[in-house]
Amino acid sequence: MAALDRFLKYVKIDTQSDDTTHTTPSTEKQKNLGKVLVEDLLELGLEDAAMDKWGNVYAHLKGEKAERIGLNAHMDTALESSGKNVKPRKIKNWDGSDIKLDEEKVLSTNEFPALKNHIGKDLIVTDGKTLLGADDKAGIAIIMGVLEYFKDHPEKKHHPISVCFTVDEEIGEGADHFDIKKMKADYAYTVDGAEINHVDYRNFNAQSVHIKFEGFAVHPGEGKGTLINAIMVMHEFLQSLPQDQTPYDSDGEQGYWHLTEINGNSVNCECSMILREFEKDVLEKRDNELFAIRDALLTKYPNAKIEIEITDQYQNMAEFLKKDPRPLFKAIESIKRCGLDPESKAIRGGTDGAQFSRMGLTTPNLGTGSANHHGPYEYLVVQDFLKMIDIIVDIMTIPEQEKTTRITD
Ligand SMILES: [Zn+2]
Repeated sequence: MAALDRFLKYVKIDTQSDDTTHTTPSTEKQKNLGKVLVEDLLELGLEDAAMDKWGNVYAHLKGEKAERIGLNAHMDTALESSGKNVKPRKIKNWDGSDIKLDEEKVLSTNEFPALKNHIGKDLIVTDGKTLLGADDKAGIAIIMGVLEYFKDHPEKKHHPISVCFTVDEEIGEGADHFDIKKMKADYAYTVDGAEINHVDYRNFNAQSVHIKFEGFAVHPGEGKGTLINAIMVMHEFLQSLPQDQTPYDSDGEQGYWHLTEINGNSVNCECSMILREFEKDVLEKRDNELFAIRDALLTKYPNAKIEIEITDQYQNMAEFLKKDPRPLFKAIESIKRCGLDPESKAIRGGTDGAQFSRMGLTTPNLGTGSANHHGPYEYLVVQDFLKMIDIIVDIMTIPEQEKTTRITD
């Protein structure tokens, strides 16, 4: 089956995850895709393909060298936009003119200048009502395309390949039930990015922060000098944070603090925020800043209470790649051999690969040839998508001159 047909088949299966169910998978329907993927993997000759009770799918392809390379893509789609009833539309040999998605939405180079790089190529777009789901079904279809290539070319010597398709990446739980032993790989790649000449290995260090404020309650009519309003203390706290370091003000290598939720009344209130920084010590500085503001406010309002709870979420995987740069070097070489200029950008978020890296499986991220993820403007560039298969085939292929020993288990 052609890789693109496979992609079109996968996007029609609704796999949107849900961050309110607190189950794994967060939505049963992700298993509908999982079942199809197991069938496809078996058909491609990966005899041990199976889905576990969490909905994660694992499979292994034997190869000729001890270095086992893992490939991962996620099955779920984002919360921001529906993934139901996706109606992908192909635009052949795109001429650069505006693409009318529906009555209101237009995909154009004015709003999305990166599109200019794809004039003359074929695009897959949405009907404006849903996301496309190239994030990350393009990744899944690319991995299947690599496996199909080796099925059709039994003469090509290649590394043993470990495949894992995971659930619930979009709600940050993709690695929660990932079984590193089942994966059986020395290093891996997530195929979950955008541009195909990118290999991304730097991501945020991430923390979530929960702060509780307790005021001092007396009748407001007799509150002079005594009543402390928890909401006002919280307001002062938030105003003391650097106002020019929010997501609105930052990009590239800059970090931020981002208020995500507030709740409460004049006696008790609380807020949640996330902290993001590429450098660990800068993140620590942010933590210390929170404690310093707390101390200053408690000095000002000795009868108030402020409790800060900080939780680590994920870590910059660059630290792990310093120890084992093999996957990075290999990807850079293959991107070059396929005629592209390798690039790397700092990922302003986390990836499942960052979590896998922390678990002991170093996993940088590769592209999929798609863009504008999580919404109706998402699109796939067909030629880039197909080229990504070539790049990963190159990563997996062992050069003729290299001596090899077949690994059988
Ligand atoms: Zn993704």
